[in-house]
Amino acid sequence: MLSQRINELKPSKTTMSAQLASELKDQGKDVISLGLGEPDFSTPKYILDAVNEAMYKGKGHHYSPSAGMSELRQAIADFHADHDGYRYEKEEVFVCDGAKMALYFICQILLNPGDQVLIPSPYWVSYLEQVKLAGGQAVIIPSQEKQDYKITVEQVATHANEQTKFLILNTPSNPTGMVYSGDEVRAISDYCREHNILLVVDEIYYRLVYGDTQPQSIMSLTDNLDHVIIVNGFSKTYAMTGWRLGYVLARQEIIQALAKLASQSNSNASGLSQYAGLAALQGSQEDFANMRMTFAKRLENAYDKVSQLPGFQLSSKARGAFYLFPDISEACQLTGFATADDFVNALLAEYYVLVIPGSAFGSDQHIRLSYATDQDTFNQAIERIHAFIETHR
Ligand code: PLP
Repeated sequence: MLSQRINELKPSKTTMSAQLASELKDQGKDVISLGLGEPDFSTPKYILDAVNEAMYKGKGHHYSPSAGMSELRQAIADFHADHDGYRYEKEEVFVCDGAKMALYFICQILLNPGDQVLIPSPYWVSYLEQVKLAGGQAVIIPSQEKQDYKITVEQVATHANEQTKFLILNTPSNPTGMVYSGDEVRAISDYCREHNILLVVDEIYYRLVYGDTQPQSIMSLTDNLDHVIIVNGFSKTYAMTGWRLGYVLARQEIIQALAKLASQSNSNASGLSQYAGLAALQGSQEDFANMRMTFAKRLENAYDKVSQLPGFQLSSKARGAFYLFPDISEACQLTGFATADDFVNALLAEYYVLVIPGSAFGSDQHIRLSYATDQDTFNQAIERIHAFIETHR
């Protein structure tokens, strides 16, 4: 009954894990989830107040243009001009239902059968499946711990060919938390431009960086952006995952194609969510600054605690997003589990701690832990993981 396309599609492991944890919770189990890919904060009050006011003034009740509300497109362009020193025009902004949808649309408007897409590994769960769904072929560029899980321009060169349509760069990275330096991004971008390869930069975590690391969008690094498509959204920065709001910055030809696709699929992002986005950008950024500070403190604690787990290896410290991605091959050996997937399944079944297996991100030896949960809960989970390892040792 179902199409070949959907039969071949793999479900998102992160979404499935979250469902499993919530089923266990419903059965009364005391589950701790470190699987969260979203801030544990509520959407800031100034955003809620603005949406409330807009709603009762009759705003956001109707369809909006497919590329998004004009005020919001302008506000996004203005925000980046102020923060990143580069001005995209309003017509170069496309608003949609989250960054995930933006990436899905990008694959749909760019890929012809046989086109190749370069994806650095470890990669975010949906890139691969979205490329395949659009008829493209994913070409994985592997990265190792010793290179901080960041690909080099030389690796791009060895994996690119005539069929390469675009490369997806995600910095800060989900799942590793690693952040590419300005020079690293510039080198990859220059290579892509010179070789007629589009560069899709997923910047959904770009303001969530810690320590000495400063937020850095590709638009602050170069004016050569004709080949660049930037994806961003409100989910992570403003604790707005449920509002489903994201956007794309690119040249008008791309934006118009995205809007055409929207006009025949979802029509437009939710009206009230667009008002939430407008308020988020135009209001004080104090709530965001506080969330960022909290994540920065949690990272210090999480890095310390995870480094001390037997057989868990974390070399260089993550600098962004809210994830740690330890190599647990030694812990698997200690405990007799053949794979990280087996380790993760047993940990959930026996100690009710949910973490995401690295296989969701292209690595069998790792797990992803999220510190978008309060410190006490995180530490409790770590104690349980410790006990789990000791039980199986
Ligand atoms: N890109 C990356 C790297 C992500 O981690 C996520 C969410 O987990 C997304 C995109 C999608 O975000 P959104 O909630 O805006 O769809």
